[in-house]
Amino acid sequence: MSKEKLYIFDTTLRDGAQTQGVDFSIDDKEKISDSLDVLGVDYIEGGWPGANPTDTEFFNKDHGFKNAKLTAFGMTKKLEHSAENDPMLASLINSKSSSVCLFGKSWDFQVDVALGITNEQNLENISESAKHIISSGKEFMFDAEHFFDGYKSNPDYALKCLKSAYDQGARWIVLCDTNGGTLPHEVTKIVSEITKHIPGENLGIHAHNDTENAVANSLAAVQAGVRQIQGTINGLGERCGNANLMSLIPSLFLKKRFY
Ligand SMILES: [Zn+2]
Repeated sequence: MSKEKLYIFDTTLRDGAQTQGVDFSIDDKEKISDSLDVLGVDYIEGGWPGANPTDTEFFNKDHGFKNAKLTAFGMTKKLEHSAENDPMLASLINSKSSSVCLFGKSWDFQVDVALGITNEQNLENISESAKHIISSGKEFMFDAEHFFDGYKSNPDYALKCLKSAYDQGARWIVLCDTNGGTLPHEVTKIVSEITKHIPGENLGIHAHNDTENAVANSLAAVQAGVRQIQGTINGLGERCGNANLMSLIPSLFLKKRFY
């Protein structure tokens, strides 16, 4: 079997920074990101420019990474602004990132309860945000928050959310197990269904570890076709943490099917 390229996306400096007791300084962020670049990860999610002074400063610098693309994190536009007039999107575009990852809802329950907007308005927020970021020339990826729970509850709508970003030209659609409650056999089944609509080479997995299955779920997603894996060093992250890249990278490397 020929080898296939997998993309490693490190979110230690963003999701990992949500760990209780972790508070990265700008110096910490620079040392960690330099080490991640040397390690050879494909993407370093450095934080949320505009959200706090440390992240804004980090994204104002040219880091000169050799391997990694610096990725800025944020959320899809708010209903009350056009994408062009959304201040948060502007701070992501104006940062020195080469790619932007926006999270958005993909579970109709959350659209209704957490955002208080209609399903159609959420789809428009996703597609307009994607279009705006892509027209700025940055690589775009969409983190589909609560995707697996959303898909179990309303598969048609969850898929529509993904397609709203993908059809605008998103490089990556990232399937998030935000609550960490999905099990590997469910990941296998759901990812296999999604690859009928979006190619695996455009899909990523972002697994939280609440049931201690984040590594297993990430491997199951890769086996089912996804080609980007998100995680953190030593599984840092809020609550029980994220998928541990220190387990995933050697497993994938030593098993030799991927590079
Ligand atoms: Zn997360």
